[in-house]
Amino acid sequence: NIFAKILRGEIPSIKVYEDDATLAFMDIMPQVEGHVLVIPKAQATTMYDLPADAASACIKTVQHVGQAVQKAMQIDGSTVFQHNGAAAGQTVPHFHFHILPGSLLALKGHATEMGDPAELQKIADKIIACL
Ligand code: AMP
Repeated sequence: NIFAKILRGEIPSIKVYEDDATLAFMDIMPQVEGHVLVIPKAQATTMYDLPADAASACIKTVQHVGQAVQKAMQIDGSTVFQHNGAAAGQTVPHFHFHILPGSLLALKGHATEMGDPAELQKIADKIIACL
């Protein structure tokens, strides 16, 4: 996949930070100015198969780079998100965090309705049964 190629140096990327376990680089199709991606060097497709040490390294890099993104873009907030699987909108099958200066919900809109507690409990019960 394209991020594995970036890690192997086979295709270029605009790097902002690199250490032994992670790489941070500019998203080629930014959703807003200052959109950065953080990836582990270890192979993993989603959060669910990401080894704990790689997850920890990614969070550390997100903390470091995310604060620099906020400072550089002169905004006192950012959104960190990631997709797990094509059904969630993941297009590159190598785990990655997005760092987005400002609010993703400002682009998408906040939910406006409260859930029905009885319905929420039913769904919670289904989830609990699968744990
Ligand atoms: P996702 O939908 O979470 O899989 O996001 C993949 C992201 O990778 C998208 O925001 C793309 O714009 C970005 N992307 C795809 N190819 C490249 C690339 N070669 N360099 C940098 N970002 C890329």
